[in-house]
Amino acid sequence: MEQSPEPVYALAYGAHPDDVELSCGATLLNIMNEGKSVAVCDLTRGEMGTHGTPETRKQEAATATLLMGYQSRTTLDLGDSKLFHTEENIAEIIKVIRKFRPTVVFANPPDERHPDHIKASKLVTEACYYAGLQQLTTTINGTAQVPHRPKHLLYYTQFKHLEPDIIVDISTTFEASRKGVLAFGTQFFKEGRAEEPKTLIKRREFLTGLEARARYLGEQIGTLYGEGFKLSGTLGISSFTKVF
Ligand SMILES: [Zn+2]
Repeated sequence: MEQSPEPVYALAYGAHPDDVELSCGATLLNIMNEGKSVAVCDLTRGEMGTHGTPETRKQEAATATLLMGYQSRTTLDLGDSKLFHTEENIAEIIKVIRKFRPTVVFANPPDERHPDHIKASKLVTEACYYAGLQQLTTTINGTAQVPHRPKHLLYYTQFKHLEPDIIVDISTTFEASRKGVLAFGTQFFKEGRAEEPKTLIKRREFLTGLEARARYLGEQIGTLYGEGFKLSGTLGISSFTKVF
């Protein structure tokens, strides 16, 4: 892992490959359309998934990265269905934060259906804080990393309802974000494919449900589509009139 020469604006973490695309892909496209850089980090290879193999999921993640236009994608191997709360795992996440030095971090929400999402949320939340500590040292290829604490941490919406603090208007990027989602083809229902074990996201109606949520969130702010986020802290503003 080399130190990134330029800091990225946003770093989006997911417990599994596809978490980021399913939950905040359109917002990431908004950010990149405004000329800012985005990096993604999957905490696991998704090797415990009912569908697909680590190899196919790796290929799918590479395709999604290309279609979405991220600056980079890092895949850690912290153990699908494990993701234990250990010093070593937190250190691996800190290394990625210090490498990319983001202003904004996106993470899985703290209250979720899949236990890995809850664990990922806790790990990333702690790593964001600890990454700023001078006395906590990490090295890459023998070189000490510079401490860095991201300014903002936002939790995206997954299966469980999350009362958002902010809703981003994604009307212009929703369609394009679907390409990133559909890159993970092994995970979704496909007409004519042989009978496979049913999972929640493998149902024919899953992608329609995803669109319905984006439509619902858009309605809350008077736009076609929206993505909702919870802030980890209180948002401070320096200019009242730039926000309101
Ligand atoms: Zn997941």
